[in-house]
Parts: sequence; C-alpha cells; structure tokens
Amino acid sequence: MAKKIQCVIIGGGPAGYTAGIYASRAGLNPVIYEGMQSGGQLTITSEVENFPGYPEGESGSVIVEDIKKQALRCGAEIRTGEVTEVDFSKRPFRLVADYEHEIFAETIVVATGATARWLGLESESLYRGFGVSTCATCDGAFFKGKTVAVIGGGDTALEEAHYLSKIAEKVYLIHRRSQFRASKTMQDRIYKTTNIELVLEATPIEVLGEKQGFSRKVTGLRIQNTKTDETKELVLDGIFVAIGVTPVTELFVGQLELDAQGYIKTQGVRPLTSVPGVFAAGDVQDPYYRQACTAAASGCKAAIEAERFLAENL
Ligand code: NDP
Repeated sequence: MAKKIQCVIIGGGPAGYTAGIYASRAGLNPVIYEGMQSGGQLTITSEVENFPGYPEGESGSVIVEDIKKQALRCGAEIRTGEVTEVDFSKRPFRLVADYEHEIFAETIVVATGATARWLGLESESLYRGFGVSTCATCDGAFFKGKTVAVIGGGDTALEEAHYLSKIAEKVYLIHRRSQFRASKTMQDRIYKTTNIELVLEATPIEVLGEKQGFSRKVTGLRIQNTKTDETKELVLDGIFVAIGVTPVTELFVGQLELDAQGYIKTQGVRPLTSVPGVFAAGDVQDPYYRQACTAAASGCKAAIEAERFLAENL
C-alpha cells in the first residue's frame, strides 16, 4: 500500500490553503491537491475590498497567492494534480490523483469550491468562448471600446459590470428583477457609472451571432421582459454571464451526503460531513455566505477537526 498521508486537502482556494496552514502547524504534514484552477474563484475576482488584512483592497489572485505562500511556508505540500476518484467507504480513505496515482489518507478536507453557472441556452453553448464568458477579468480585455452585457443581479454581476465599464464603451446590466441582490456599496457604484445602462425585469432568451467557418462571434442578445413577455434585441459584442455558482461535488456523489443543490451537507457550525474523518470547507458546503473570508474560516475549522479526529482515532 502507498504511504499514508495524515491529511489530504482537495482544492486550492482560500478554504483549502487555510486548511493547509492550520494542518501544517498542527503537524499533520498535509498534502493539498490544487486541481486544475489553482486559487479557485478568487483568482477571477478583480477587486476585493472586504478580505481582512488588505486595507487598500487587492485583486483576488494576489490574495489567494498570499494564502498559498503562507501554507507553503508553514510546511504544506502542494501538488498541482487533480483528485479524480475517491473511496470514503473505509479508512484509510483511498484517492486517485490524475487517474493513476493511488493515495491513502487518514483524514480529508474537501474544499473544491464552486464554478460559475450558465444560463443553459443552446445558443449560449454555441458562442461560449466566442464572445460569451463567465469571467470579466479573464476576457474583458477583448472588448476594449465595444458594447457588452452582463447578466445577473448579485455582487458578481455588478462587480463585473463595473470592471467592464472601464474597458468597454458601453455595458448593459441585465437583471430578471427590479431589485438587485448585490450589496449596497456595489449598487451605489453602478448607479454612479455613466456608461452602464440597467435593463431590469428582463431575461435572456437567445444569444445572437454569426458563424464563419470555424469562427463564431456574438452580435447580440434577444431578451424578454418578465412582466410583459415583450422581446427585444440588444446589439452586442460580448456577453458575461454572472448568475451564481454551482458547487463542485460530482466526485463525491454516492460518497458524501449532498443537499438538493449539490452542496455537501455539514453539521451546524462544524464542518463534519456524513463520513467521520472527511470534512468540508468553503463554497462547496456553503450556499449562504460564500465569501472568501468565510471560506478561509471554514478551512481553519476543518483542519482543527482533522487534528482532533486524528488525536482520537489513530
Ligand atoms: P448570487 O447568487 O448572489 O446572485 C446571482 C444572480 O443571478 C441573482 O441576481 C439572480 O437573480 C441571478 N440569476 C440566477 N439564475 C438566473 C437565471 N437563470 N437567469 C437570470 N438571472 C439569474 O451570486 P453571485 O455570484 O453574484 O454571488 C455569490 C456570493 O459571492 C454572494 O454571497 C456574494 O455576496 C459573494 N460575492 C462577493 C463579492 C465581494 O464581496 N467582493 C464579489 C462577488 C461575489 P435573483 O436575484 O432574481 O435571484
């Protein structure tokens, strides 16, 4: 049997790296599997003003890189691979990394986070990567001086619209209700930005575009008024979908108890999952707060639980 690891942390975002800091300091020699998108969702957040310790605000990628450096300095081992299979039916738990490397672990912290949700329109899939995106910080630069739309009414949508307003000539912010869900600070910022036009009580029904050989480009969006059912077309160069997230839990179906939305179920204030010795931290178990700061805090709790579990069960 391959060498047993005391604590494997699956996921490299604020939750995973913070679990790494605490588990290292507790002497658990943790191994963090960062997965494909090292840093998680925070890496695609342009300005973060509410993570403690950064009084002037900072980009999400710098913050998460700092947490990672701190985990490394404390002694965590970080592996770039992805965990592709898990068996939590008995201890030590069995994992497979990158489809081929078998690993055995006494405790696990699941911190796989969440990914951006899509509208689910066929036309959206057709133009994904050709003008339809879920990441303004990644793709915004392609729309310098152009017209784009952002869809959604939460903090992500408003933040993306504000970010894009500095690059694009015009930004439509399309939301299905008349009230935004986003924080007041974000809303005030949007109201003050002259090149953002609000399109409220409207839902997208079709992405419009042109196909030329293998190449495709977005030319607009057909939207429908939610009150009158009236439809209209906006002429656009790009569309940014920012309608929330889906937890990354596919790997754990049948292994851990999940709720109806696919989030890992935990027990009250404690990050305990349905399997003793497996803990969950960050957005993968939090449909409610979903802040980088709360993710980091739950990573801390999960590592403390792992330490206590090992003290009682080894
Ligand atoms: P939210 O779930 O908060 O908002 C999603 C938005 O998308 C809602 O306005 C929702 O409308 C709309 N929506 C959902 N499904 C559809 C659909 N099918 N069609 C059209 N519109 C749809 O997600 P966010 O990603 O904005 O935020 C997630 C969490 O991250 C929040 O807790 C937020 O506060 C936090 N966050 C914090 C930031 C910061 O502090 N700097 C930055 C970004 C996010 P409706 O309102 O009608 O439900």
